[in-house]
Amino acid sequence: ERTPLCIFSISPKDDNIAFLSKQIRMIDPDVGIIIILPTKTQNILKQPSSKDIYIIERGFDKNMFKMLVLSIITGWDRKQEYKDKVQRLELAMEGADIGLWDWNIQTNKFIINRQWAQMIGYYYEDVKPDISFWEDKVHPEDLPLAKKQLDAHLAWETPFYESEYRMKTKSGDWKWILARGQVVEWDADGQVLRIAGTHMDISDRKRFERELKRQRALLYSLIDSIPDLIYYKDLEGVYLGCNPAFGKFVGCHRRDVVGKTDYDLFSKNVADFFREQDRLMLISGQARSNVEWVDYPDGRHVPLDMLRTPYYGPYGEILGLVGIGRDITNQKQLEEELKKAKVAAEDASKAKSSFLASMSHEIRTPMSGIIGMTDLLKDTKLTKEQVEYLDIIRKSSDSLLAIINDILDISKIEAGKVELESIDFDLRDTLEDMNDLMAIKAAEKSIEYIYLIDHDVPSRLKGDPGRLRQILINLIGNSIKFTSEGEVTLHVSCKGETELQAILGFSVKDTGIGIPAKHIKKLFDKFTQVDMSTTRKYGGTGLGLAISKQLCEMMGGQMTAQSEVGKGSIFRFTVVMEKQIDDGSSRLLPLDELMNKRILVVDDNATNRMVLKEQLILWGCRFDEAPDGNNAIFKLKSAVLEGEPFDIAILDMEMPNMNGMELGKKIKDDEVIKDTRLIMMTSIGNRSDVDKFKSIGFSAYLVKPVKYSRLRECLLEVMGKKYMDSDHGDMNKKADSVISDKRKKDMRILLVEDNEIIQMVTLGLINKMGYEADLA
Ligand code: ADP
Repeated sequence: ERTPLCIFSISPKDDNIAFLSKQIRMIDPDVGIIIILPTKTQNILKQPSSKDIYIIERGFDKNMFKMLVLSIITGWDRKQEYKDKVQRLELAMEGADIGLWDWNIQTNKFIINRQWAQMIGYYYEDVKPDISFWEDKVHPEDLPLAKKQLDAHLAWETPFYESEYRMKTKSGDWKWILARGQVVEWDADGQVLRIAGTHMDISDRKRFERELKRQRALLYSLIDSIPDLIYYKDLEGVYLGCNPAFGKFVGCHRRDVVGKTDYDLFSKNVADFFREQDRLMLISGQARSNVEWVDYPDGRHVPLDMLRTPYYGPYGEILGLVGIGRDITNQKQLEEELKKAKVAAEDASKAKSSFLASMSHEIRTPMSGIIGMTDLLKDTKLTKEQVEYLDIIRKSSDSLLAIINDILDISKIEAGKVELESIDFDLRDTLEDMNDLMAIKAAEKSIEYIYLIDHDVPSRLKGDPGRLRQILINLIGNSIKFTSEGEVTLHVSCKGETELQAILGFSVKDTGIGIPAKHIKKLFDKFTQVDMSTTRKYGGTGLGLAISKQLCEMMGGQMTAQSEVGKGSIFRFTVVMEKQIDDGSSRLLPLDELMNKRILVVDDNATNRMVLKEQLILWGCRFDEAPDGNNAIFKLKSAVLEGEPFDIAILDMEMPNMNGMELGKKIKDDEVIKDTRLIMMTSIGNRSDVDKFKSIGFSAYLVKPVKYSRLRECLLEVMGKKYMDSDHGDMNKKADSVISDKRKKDMRILLVEDNEIIQMVTLGLINKMGYEADLA
């Protein structure tokens, strides 16, 4: 705790007052000192030997003494207060990293604080307290200006001194310093004695400014080199700047554009228009672009693609607008030409399609002539050689006709001339007719054709069965064509249904050569074939899939392909079909005659077993299955032992180990189960064995893929008898070609046809069938 005042009462002998005071002041330089001398005198001794030392003599006036003490103490208090303030200021300066300097101009004494030294990397102690230290460290390029600024202040030309200069740090780098100062002391003549001030490190700010400058320069050179017209205006429409291209556009130097408005640069009409466009953009606050026709100073009338966009201040407020304009004369021209070219191309394509359509149509007429006449010629007396030649003509004509049909189809689709039919049909009937055809094709290549239709697929539909069949024949035909062993499976399912419509899903899967992934995408393009070598081997036009996909899309569906080379392909498509109002499909109801009949299906192929299961269960039969002969015999015997023998067993012909014929024989030779009625299931290729089936004791046979109608017929008949009739099951007989003689006599035919070839062919065919025909 410090004391403000010391009072000594001393003897006159004690003459070393000065020494005593000095000693006390060394302990506390601020303390006040009163020395009381013994000599009796009334006055307080004036003449202090040093500051705040008062000498008085004994016998002093009490009031005077009191006042002296008070004044010393108050002075001391003020001093402490001031010291505190200075200390606080110093702390603040230290925190703000501000250097302080004080230069005595007369003596060149230069006093600084610690921060001043540290700012340029020195210890306080290293800094020589002379102005030469400062002069030495300021960058030689900056020193003259700094001195000039200093002189200006010293000569009262500026209210204070301010200068920015580089100073060399101890490590040799340069730092930017902002110096500020003011004269603080003059002598009586008005000569400056001292000037004091601050130092601040502004290197970061300078770096930032440099970077800003660099970026701005980059931006400007960018804007300047862009050939588009660029300008910026304030909210009042006054130009703030533009690039040289815009200057050229308005016919003056870019410098001269600044400060002008559109009314100074353009005719009133144009300026009005621009002002309005600016206004619209500013109201919306969003970029707007439009094409504007403007007159160039050189007289050209030019379309400009103008983009106007607002630019913003730091608080998100709109400061003005930027405009970018591009001369699109060439682009416009190009667009026009493209438009014309497109129209021309479309016309040409339409013309080509309708030419192809009518040409293929024209070619078909003579083709019918060739085919028809070939058929007629075949029935005349011919040598063996002639029959062979005719066969070749017929085959060639057929494939030519197929190609022409494809071309006609695709041309019609492209020319928009295909209209889909909308007729009532039965899906299962339609598919079964087609399946016969496909089964024969598959049998020719010794591959299996499997057909599976889910029981929930509605059958009585309204649509274009012909086109649906066309798609399927093409896909299944391809699959058979590109498969040499294994199987081709058609699966039909219902993907979705409303009261009025159904989405049908079809998939055609094969185990053929497959398609490389890179070809899948182009598969549905016209005239695309995976590679030419397969074309030579398999034939085809490359139109089938294109036609199929388009037809499928016309029916509201989609088609996709998935494939793996060497493993096989799967083509899927959907179509949307209307449902007939009363789809009480009879096949979906149980049959009273087949209700609860026990039927065993023996087939090594699980899909085939499933196909039958779906249908048999719907009719109310009790279904069971066996994958091979031994299992079948086991099941048949077990059923007898349980007292519920099977009524019918349907046996597949082609099975490993024990085939259908061997199994049938075993059953018929077995006393326990020989009463089971047997139905043989065989492929088209094995029809020659029919007599053998009969002799073994089969009641009937079915040809794969099994038609539901034929299956039903067959089951009903077999339930009523034990063995096969000689005639039974010959489904190859075409009912339509058998017309009773009686009806023939009653029939007269009128042929109306203008084409002579068709006339001849048709009349020939009619006569061949034994009719008479009139011609108109
Ligand atoms: P094409 O009349 O030539 O068969 P498509 O359009 O029907 O014409 O088929 C185009 C090509 O796609 C075929 O030539 C064949 O290379 C390939 N392709 C189509 N289906 C199959 C498939 N199931 N397996 C392998 N390749 C196929």
